[in-house]
Amino acid sequence: MLKSILHLDLDTFFVSCERLMDSKLNNRPVLIGGTSDRGVVAACSYEARQYGIHSAMPMRMARQLCPHATVIRGNSVVYSEFSDAVTEIVKERSPMFEKSSIDEFYVDVSGMDRYVKQTYQWAQELREEIIRETHLPISFGLSTSKTVSKVGTGEAKPNNFMRIENGYEKPFLAPLSVKKIPMVGDQTYRLLRSMGVERVRTVQQMPVELMERVLGKNGAVIWKKAQGIDNSPVVPYYERKSLSMERTFDSDTTDVYKLRAIVIGMAENLAFQLRHDNKITACVTVKVRYSDFQTHSKQKRIPYTSLDHTLIEVVKDLFDKVYDRRVLVRLVGVRFSHLIGGSYQIRLFEDSFKLIKLYQAMDKVRDRYGQQAVVRAMGMGSKTLARPNPFNGQTAVANG
Ligand SMILES: [Mg+2]
Repeated sequence: MLKSILHLDLDTFFVSCERLMDSKLNNRPVLIGGTSDRGVVAACSYEARQYGIHSAMPMRMARQLCPHATVIRGNSVVYSEFSDAVTEIVKERSPMFEKSSIDEFYVDVSGMDRYVKQTYQWAQELREEIIRETHLPISFGLSTSKTVSKVGTGEAKPNNFMRIENGYEKPFLAPLSVKKIPMVGDQTYRLLRSMGVERVRTVQQMPVELMERVLGKNGAVIWKKAQGIDNSPVVPYYERKSLSMERTFDSDTTDVYKLRAIVIGMAENLAFQLRHDNKITACVTVKVRYSDFQTHSKQKRIPYTSLDHTLIEVVKDLFDKVYDRRVLVRLVGVRFSHLIGGSYQIRLFEDSFKLIKLYQAMDKVRDRYGQQAVVRAMGMGSKTLARPNPFNGQTAVANG
């Protein structure tokens, strides 16, 4: 059956949230990110982009390019709330949807035309409702695949929408820059440019073998996307995997210091795993099973994050709340759920450049030495993670 997939993306989401809270920011260049000179731009308004500013640029450079820009430290609490409000509307109206990042959704509307109404009209009504209820600008693309719809959203922006009809995917993509194909990052783009490939049309005309030879396996995937071929499914929000760790003790314990250290270690390991997978979480659960097999757990919704120092505080707090019987403990566990993609931007606001570097360095060390421990703990489920965590010192720095 022919698929019909809608991609929705809130326009300059962080900036739009800030503008809802302070209308003086409307029509002005706005930079969001770390506010110190060592900070990094996480997001910027269209007015700032005209000065050549883009996300991931050092804040110092952005300030030089546009000295009259308003610089705001990002607020993941507020953005998470706005994101939830939009998610609720999408959830209520959609047969099946995927939240792919804090401000992006895919909805599988295949077959809807036959039962409900014209998909295109339905999508416009959904968009109007989101704008009416949240006052956030949002754009969408509608086509037969995730890739083409996402590219369509990008072409429709700002605050607009478009449909690419079945059979027109290839000509729609042809004149666009290869940079617009999802998956083509800076490195791939440079490589393609060095081969003289600038437009998607050129990739469409190349033999797939050539793309494979130059870019390996990814080359074939990019070639397919360039043809408008993409069968990847919409993964329902509720099926998004959570990350969790548990430990069952050989002999039950009431040693609260030991137990707390273990759940903190789990939080660190899982946070590393999140960053490694480029994901962020919005829900933390801590579980304690007593020797009489009574299991208590506590859950907390939190602003999206993947940072140790934030997650550890939540886990510690939940553990202290859930561990309320002074009875022998048989098992403890930590779970991060409500996972979505994209840790990068959200990490930039609370972080100075120094802190970002620190996390990168920590993660690099773990990639080399610690990943084994993470994999082992995840794979075996029980009786793991007894090792002391070597990053406590650095995490303390991150806390301060
Ligand atoms: Mg967006």
